[in-house]
Amino acid sequence: MVRHHDDLIEEAPASRELFDRAQRVLVGGVNSPVRSFRGVGGTPRFIVRGHGATLEDADGHRYIDFVMSWGALILGHAHASVVRAVQDAAERGTSYGAPTEAEVALAERISRDLPSIERMRFVNSGTEATMSAIRVARAFTRRRKIVVFEGGYHGHADPFLVRAGSGVAAAGLARSEGVPPGALEDTLVATYNDGDGVAEIFRRNRNEIAAVVVEPVAGNMGVVPPLDDFLSTLRDITTEHDSLLIFDEVITGYRVARHGAQGLYRIDPDLTCLGKIIGGGLPAAVYGGREDAMSLVAPLGPVYQAGTLAGNPLAMAAGLATIHELADSAYSRLESISARFERDMRDAAAAAGVPIQTNRVGSMFGVFFSAAPVRSYADVKAYDADGYRRLFASLLARGVYFPPAPYESLFVSLAHDAESLRHTADALAESFAHLGRGPWR
Ligand code: PMP
Repeated sequence: MVRHHDDLIEEAPASRELFDRAQRVLVGGVNSPVRSFRGVGGTPRFIVRGHGATLEDADGHRYIDFVMSWGALILGHAHASVVRAVQDAAERGTSYGAPTEAEVALAERISRDLPSIERMRFVNSGTEATMSAIRVARAFTRRRKIVVFEGGYHGHADPFLVRAGSGVAAAGLARSEGVPPGALEDTLVATYNDGDGVAEIFRRNRNEIAAVVVEPVAGNMGVVPPLDDFLSTLRDITTEHDSLLIFDEVITGYRVARHGAQGLYRIDPDLTCLGKIIGGGLPAAVYGGREDAMSLVAPLGPVYQAGTLAGNPLAMAAGLATIHELADSAYSRLESISARFERDMRDAAAAAGVPIQTNRVGSMFGVFFSAAPVRSYADVKAYDADGYRRLFASLLARGVYFPPAPYESLFVSLAHDAESLRHTADALAESFAHLGRGPWR
């Protein structure tokens, strides 16, 4: 049965009631804007439980989840070894504000998997990681300017809130109020996948650019993979100009490969930011890289950065347990699961005569309602976000939970088994058939 989008609001009375309560005490009823469903319409589902590939909401509806805590959960929800590791750690105390072996073990693991990270510091969020990485780059180079890419997202620190992607784009904000113009004065905005444009920016700002900050696979404008020589061009330009290359691998780290995007594309950045997967669903992130640059951070050097809960034992335990499960065979399994999901999506759209583009790097996945390939942020902006909204609503009604915002990546996990993919394929076929008949642009 095809249900109209507006009916769905009435089908989630418990979520509706919780959302009403939430809006009286939480800003917009949520603790992160993209959760609010504003980008797609309807009531955000309040989640009571996650297991494997499945989410259950307050009304008892179950969904196959393709958000996976925005990429943090590569093993799926409540993976037994992660749960056990967190329980064991909690029994020994939730935080000490003193060093633990788990921090060392996770750092050693990360440094082995991503050898460009010689020294690192754990923080609690991707926002802190990128904010701290540019502080290091500025101190190391004694320069102020940074280059970022339109439609990229590096968290919500002041210098990054200009023409950003993700929730910033979904909210239609070119920048954020409350950020003083001075904080953005040294942010130069380039075009993703346009190496010549970056070279031109360097020519015009000689000896002034501390770093280029880039998502090696753009994941906050949907998914846009790097064109063939884009990352190597960035590597060459930054080396030539004595600037640092910072890879924001908060999404791609341990996602696109065990060695991250830097391993996949064989580019060594000077600094790297990781988050999401390294915390196994608990709050943890890290920044690190060249020893000479990282040695500037306190207590060794004059760059100050600290954190009460940094390297939290529960988060370290969850991260270690997660990465422990990620042998090479896990990535080949993830690849075949993700390839099947992509094929099902394309088949469903083709059968309904709906033109879509899919961009996929391993288990991160973007879908665009567009007849032309999507290789840049300009291509992303040209696509029909209304089509995505309708697909989202239709899938939600059929028990499939896609990101409730149009400029996000979908994530597949190791818990997406044959049954959940079959359910998803059926839901996709019905949804696209429904969309295909509709008066969409
Ligand atoms: N960098 C990237 C590439 C991200 O995708 C995100 C969040 N989605 C961040 C940084 C910020 O991380 P957090 O939300 O943990 O602050």
